[in-house]
Amino acid sequence: MRITNCRSCGCGDLRVILDLGSQPVANALLSEEELSRPEARFLLAVAFCPACALLQVTETVPADVLYRRDYPYFSSSSPALLKHSAEHVEALARKYELGPRNFVVEVASNDGYLLRNFVDRGIDCLGIDPADGPVARANAIGVPTIHDFFGSRCAEKLAGEGKLADVVIANNVVAHVDGINDFVAGFARLLKPTGIAVFEFAYALDMVEHCEFDTIYHEHLFYHTLHGLTPLFRRHGLYLNDAERLPIHGGSLRLTVGRTPARSEELDALFAHEAALGVDQVSCYNDFADRVRALRDSLACLLISERAKGKRIACYGAAAKGATMVNYLDLGERFFEFVADANAYKQGKFMPGQRIPIRHPDQLVADQPDYVLLLVWNFAGEVMRQQATYRERGGSFIIPVPEPCIVPPDAPIDDTQFAIFPTRDPGAPHAL
Ligand SMILES: [Zn+2]
Repeated sequence: MRITNCRSCGCGDLRVILDLGSQPVANALLSEEELSRPEARFLLAVAFCPACALLQVTETVPADVLYRRDYPYFSSSSPALLKHSAEHVEALARKYELGPRNFVVEVASNDGYLLRNFVDRGIDCLGIDPADGPVARANAIGVPTIHDFFGSRCAEKLAGEGKLADVVIANNVVAHVDGINDFVAGFARLLKPTGIAVFEFAYALDMVEHCEFDTIYHEHLFYHTLHGLTPLFRRHGLYLNDAERLPIHGGSLRLTVGRTPARSEELDALFAHEAALGVDQVSCYNDFADRVRALRDSLACLLISERAKGKRIACYGAAAKGATMVNYLDLGERFFEFVADANAYKQGKFMPGQRIPIRHPDQLVADQPDYVLLLVWNFAGEVMRQQATYRERGGSFIIPVPEPCIVPPDAPIDDTQFAIFPTRDPGAPHAL
């Protein structure tokens, strides 16, 4: 369904800043039988609200279409996420001196991967998640978890049971909820007067600065900045008090919100940085859109010219961002030989839209294509180290963002080059 008004403030004057065309749902992988049927497509465009500065997609894809996964997602399967979560809990426990007298709630708690760290410390906690498989797993490992969608109704019920929280954590969910006002109202209801809520989400400033347009897909309804979130939280009596930039997922923000104002210097500095970049002005995003189109043109040009020379090209990572990338490139079916992905659930299926067959990563060494377009560029160092044999045998990786870059077989892997704040040396021998 196409929106006509801002999901946060209701303003009816939304400005489309980037149109990625009609795209299939990024996570809707296809089975062999489904190849004969047409795929549902929805406009993938981002609009800016001039009244409240919130960035949002213009189309709300129905949840039953959007989340039609044929395999359950368990957060515990990601070692990087487990480490990140354990460190986050450690930092929270130290900063707020959390102990047995405190109560912590996590929204979208999945299989208890984060809350188990509180359980281990003897801190009372509760998870809330709408996915039944992960909820059952969480309860089985001793993390109390209820099966529900979070919002004002759920918060009211918990508050009625006397379960007000000292800390509420919500990671990678605040960009996904269509009814964003009801969602934020739930936090205001659930927090004790002295309580804090901590949100982590992909930071739109990283997307804009590093041209990470492939983080745009229908599941991500919002692309948050401090400027866009401030009116939303204030509407519900909540204050943005601290912000920390994190390297995870290509650049994230950890935002601390409370029921009383207590702004940190870090928050003020980042807010000023956003203001200087003009994130509350539509012109900032017009420049981003120009860079996105230039990136697509230069990447398509590179790939097409190499194919014309007879080179063979595969991809790595059948993730949602990869679907946005290949469908926006739109080079046609069979342009890429296959896409390698380590997730056994995905192997044997096809990426949506361009219908690229998904294979085990061993296929890279077995087939030895000349190039691998690295769709999961946020794991560049990890993937290239795993593919040492492919590289030793002459294979090159192509990293698409922030600008297309070939990594030759013998180039050393420099993680800082592929980290969140890529400080690429323009004189480096492999820069295009
Ligand atoms: Zn608005």
